Amino acid sequence: MKHPLQGLLRPELMELEEYTPILPFEVLSRRLGLPPDAIVKLDANENPYGPVPAVVEALATYPYFHIYPDPQQTELREALAGFTGLPAELILPTHGAAELLDYLCRLFLRPGDMIIDTPPTFGMYSFDAGLQGGHVISVPRRPDYAVDVAAIEDAVGRHIYRDPQSKRVKLLFLTSPNNPTGNWLSDDDLRRLLSLPVIVVLDEAYVEFADHLSRASWVLEHANLVIARTFSKAAGIAGLRLGYGLCPAWLMAQLWKFKQPYNVNVAAAVAGIASLRHVDQIISVVEKLKAERHRLFTGLSAISWLHPVPSQGNFILCEVHGRNAKGVKLALEDDGILVRHYNKPLLENCIRISVGRPEQTDRLLAGLAALG
Ligand code: PMP
Repeated sequence: MKHPLQGLLRPELMELEEYTPILPFEVLSRRLGLPPDAIVKLDANENPYGPVPAVVEALATYPYFHIYPDPQQTELREALAGFTGLPAELILPTHGAAELLDYLCRLFLRPGDMIIDTPPTFGMYSFDAGLQGGHVISVPRRPDYAVDVAAIEDAVGRHIYRDPQSKRVKLLFLTSPNNPTGNWLSDDDLRRLLSLPVIVVLDEAYVEFADHLSRASWVLEHANLVIARTFSKAAGIAGLRLGYGLCPAWLMAQLWKFKQPYNVNVAAAVAGIASLRHVDQIISVVEKLKAERHRLFTGLSAISWLHPVPSQGNFILCEVHGRNAKGVKLALEDDGILVRHYNKPLLENCIRISVGRPEQTDRLLAGLAALG
């Protein structure tokens, strides 16, 4: 039933679908009567090793939780400058990379303005655009999951030659490595897409796991490139919510006016700074996960009804053949093993498995083998 006050809401928000959250692992642990540590959580591309020890120590001893954060995050930005090689002036820390994606949609989109989305990909781009009443133009990926550059160029071209006040394509979201397919966006494709008259948002949430380098330095050469990065994956602090944008100078000036002053809380900043003092340890965790990704891929390849897709991220997408992927997900869940299930165009009957610790891989492979 519609509440009478609902008429006060922005009309473009009325049709939004509710976000479906994943099952919290504490809930599953209670349901199965297993301790939380016994749950093999491979459904959200988290880092099973968590943060480097210095993060826990820095949080335990930090004396100023009663003081508001530095709205400019000066110390964190300096540390990020050292890590990314970009000047601190081009770095904006955010409440997870997710906040940056939301800011970009809010900064650029009026109702009816368009974004280009390249499914299958991360769902938040279309979700955030929808919150602004933005229109999502979907340009599906090719069968090998590469973006269809010519089709993107066509889509932008079709909407660009109007007067400046008309609705137009403003943002193109790209992801490398892509979630959930794990593939890398080539330099050639990225360069071609950067020549389009739109803002290119390159999401590098998983870049640390790739066998390729970040495009951070490209921000210095392309005024229409924004890169989103995060501490949720390689740095293992998803729960603390810390990400950052690498943005051209003209956009930084707008973001400073626009962002919430205290968008990054003190705990996240302390954890981020402590992480960046121990990048060597993060790299060794990433190397461990990459080795485990290889072992997981080999194990999954040996299962006749699974077809794993090679991945540059900390996860592996698998097509499920001859049985129901949702059934597989639910059967694993009864065993305390969580994976992500998809059933949508280009992701028909698929599961995505995050790379875990070796003993988690063993449990998963045994669980899959038990399905026969
Ligand atoms: N981008 C991609 C491609 C992701 O998969 C995720 C999280 N799953 C995010 C961004 C969000 O990262 P954060 O936790 O920093 O908000």
